Amino acid sequence: MNIEQIIVRKRNGEELSANGLQDVVQGFVRDEIPDYQMAALLMAIYFQGMSFAETLSLTKVMIESGKKVEFNNLNKIPVDKHSTGGVGDKISIILAPLVAAAGVAVPMMSGRGLGHSGGTLDKLEAIPGFRTRLSLTEFKNQVENIGVAMIGQTDEIVPADRKIYALRDRTGTVPSIPLVVASILSKKIAEGAKALVLDVKTGRGAFFKSQEKTTQLAESLIAVSKQFGLPTTAFLTSMDQPLGYAVGNWLETREAIETLKGRGPKDVMEVTLALGAEMLRQAGIVANNYSGQAHLNDLLQSGAAYEKFLALVHAQGGDLSIIEHPDRYPKTKHSQMIPSEQTGYIQSIDALNIGLLAMEIGAGRKKISDQIDYGAGIVLQKKVGDYISSGEPIAEIFYSEKFDGLNPWEKINESILLSNEPTPSSPLILKYINEASAQVFNNKR
Ligand code: URA
Repeated sequence: MNIEQIIVRKRNGEELSANGLQDVVQGFVRDEIPDYQMAALLMAIYFQGMSFAETLSLTKVMIESGKKVEFNNLNKIPVDKHSTGGVGDKISIILAPLVAAAGVAVPMMSGRGLGHSGGTLDKLEAIPGFRTRLSLTEFKNQVENIGVAMIGQTDEIVPADRKIYALRDRTGTVPSIPLVVASILSKKIAEGAKALVLDVKTGRGAFFKSQEKTTQLAESLIAVSKQFGLPTTAFLTSMDQPLGYAVGNWLETREAIETLKGRGPKDVMEVTLALGAEMLRQAGIVANNYSGQAHLNDLLQSGAAYEKFLALVHAQGGDLSIIEHPDRYPKTKHSQMIPSEQTGYIQSIDALNIGLLAMEIGAGRKKISDQIDYGAGIVLQKKVGDYISSGEPIAEIFYSEKFDGLNPWEKINESILLSNEPTPSSPLILKYINEASAQVFNNKR
């Protein structure tokens, strides 16, 4: 294989063969292809797109870069959920134990922070001791024993996504439909899920801003899943303002814990219940979304969902005392309350700017090797629609390291648009897409 020729072919808009893609992915996983060549190929894919056949082949070779989990001893349908990435999106941490508490098997393989968006793995690893790198056997056993496990890509399962994901994060190649499709579905198929619910984010803080492009992404995900025999449905949800109030790894995990205790913010609850009910429907536990939501609400209020979360954290080595007493979590060196500079009704909170600020103050990576400051981040004090007076706190920021050339006070105030009139509320869940409504697609430019 000549990797340079493959890069040139893609750069020129030609279609890559299944064998060519296999050589590249295998070569990269074996460290035979350097990052700079893989980055060049990813950028060529970003600009030229991929046909349906190429997207399918890429997904397949990524799955085959490692082992596939098969749940032969479960007498239930393993169901998973995945989000395409947003700001303040802690839904998976709530959903996995919640749905498991309803009796569904949830084998969940997630990702790390990508660009301005946070990642479930980083949020889980904010819990002292929590291991996201389980062996395949540990993963399987845990799903069979307690009904839920949350892991990341390893050397055993989809190592290709582990390496490509980290490189995409730092090379501006995340918002590419074929790359997102192959990344998400390779994980979900390799982990052994037999049904999938997708939260496809759209808006300022999402990787795809327009509803048109996001719908194309959702349809692509559904069409490729179908080829692998994985029944998949998708919700298009708004990512214009951060989800919930907390942005940053531990801060979000803490908000997820509150939600598991039945005290979650309204928008977090709305998305959790809609996605969770769909998972229950796919697992054959409820007939429709309405009864699913009622059932999940009961599990949150009764403490059953929180108990399942404790079992999950315990099984993966996490420190339960921190979950039970979140106030004992190590404090960041600094915190600062940011006041609003103006008075009015909040019309919008720019999720992208808030995500970028959180990353700058330590909650995300700027280089692959960067260490995350788990405690760093932002807690909004208000949401869209709320009224705020000048001088009233709009957000609190937490950080430990000094950051240069950045004025969080200004950044936060710039991210918030006020109006003299009350803001009409806009829907959070915009669309539901299933196989019947998904279109055939072609992601070539
Ligand atoms: N989540 C993933 O797992 N991969 C992507 O590329 C984007 C979101």
